[in-house]
Amino acid sequence: TEAPVKIAVTGAAGQICYSLLFRIASGSLLGDRPIELRLLEITPALKALEGVVMELDDCAFPNLAGIEIGDDPNKVFDGVNLAMLVGAMPRKAGMERSDLLSANGAIFTAQGKALNAVAADDVKVLITGNPANTNALIASKNAPDIPAERFNALTRLDHNRALSQLAAKTGVAVSDISHMTIWGNHSATQYPDLFNARIGDRSAAEVVDDQAWIEGTFIPKVAKRGAEIIEARGLSSAASAANATVEHMRDWVLGTPEGDWVSMSVPSDGSYGVPEGIISSFPCTVTDGKYEIVQGLEINDFSRARIDASVAELVEERNAVTELGLI
Ligand code: NDP
Repeated sequence: TEAPVKIAVTGAAGQICYSLLFRIASGSLLGDRPIELRLLEITPALKALEGVVMELDDCAFPNLAGIEIGDDPNKVFDGVNLAMLVGAMPRKAGMERSDLLSANGAIFTAQGKALNAVAADDVKVLITGNPANTNALIASKNAPDIPAERFNALTRLDHNRALSQLAAKTGVAVSDISHMTIWGNHSATQYPDLFNARIGDRSAAEVVDDQAWIEGTFIPKVAKRGAEIIEARGLSSAASAANATVEHMRDWVLGTPEGDWVSMSVPSDGSYGVPEGIISSFPCTVTDGKYEIVQGLEINDFSRARIDASVAELVEERNAVTELGLI
C-alpha cells in the first residue's frame, strides 16, 4: 500500500481550516491517495482543535490514514510533504503595520526554521495567512536548505474572484474564461489582468470593451471582495479561501490544465521586471510538480503601471521585515 502523504496545516482550529481540513480529507486535494494530517495550533486553541479532530473522525474518511495535533512546529512538521500555513496574526484595531509584520514575523520565522529542520526533502509550502506574500518570504528566508521555489503564497482566491466577476459582467460561463492573471501582492494593490485573460479565443478586455468598468468597478471589486464579505457575513471569507488553498496546492502537485495557466505567488526570477526574490503573483503553469512563470506576455502601459505599484508595495514590505531583522 501507498505511504500516506503527510500534510501539515496551521491555524487548524480557525475558520478557514474548518472548511479546508474536510476538503483535504475528503479527497479534493489528492483524490484517493491516503493522507495523514499534521495540525498545528497555538496552545490555547488546542482544545477547540480536539473538537475539529472529533468531527474529522466522525466523517470516517476512507483515505485519512491518521491525524496528529500539537503546538510545536518541530514535532508537527516532522516529515511533512506538503505544508499549508493558514494560521496568522490578524490585524487588530490600532495595530500599526510594523506591529503586524513583527507579530507574523515571529510565527513565520519559527515555522520556516522548523520546516528547514524536519520537513521531508520534497516539501512544498503554501502560505495563506496574511500578509501572505511577505509571510512566505520570511518563512523561506528562515529555511535556507529548502529551495526558495518551494515557498508559494496564495493569490488563487483573487484569481477566482476575478473569473467570477468577469463571468457575471459578460454573461459567459466561468469555464469559457481562461488565462486569468493576478499580478503582484495579495492586497488592495493586486492587479487582475483582463488584457491577457481570454473569453473563448478573444481578449477579455476586448469583449468587455469598457475601460471605465475595468478601472472603476472590476479591479476594486476583486481587490475589496474580502471586505464586502465581512460586511455581509460578519466574518471574513473562509470557505472560498479554503477552496482556493486546495486548488493552488492541487495544481502545484498534480499540474495545471492543458492550455491554461493559474495565478500563483512565487519567488520572482526577474520576469516582467519584478525584482528577483520577492514573492509576487504571476501567471504560472505546472508540470511534474514544478511551476514555471509564463513568459512573453504583452504588458500594456496600463498594466505596467498597476503591476509596478503592487510590486513596489512588496518591495516596501521586504524592506520593512529586513529592518526588523526577520530575514
Ligand atoms: P481565518 O482562518 O479566517 O484566517 C486565517 C488567515 O488566513 C488570516 O491571516 C487571514 O487573513 C487569512 N485569509 C483570510 N482570507 C484570505 C484570503 N482570501 N486570502 C489569503 N488569506 C486569507 O482566521 P481565524 O482567526 O479563524 O483562524 C486563525 C487560526 O490560526 C486561529 O485558530 C489561531 O489560533 C491560529 N493561529 C495558529 C498559529 C500556529 O499554528 N502557530 C499562529 C497564529 C494563529 P486576514 O486576517 O487578513 O483575514
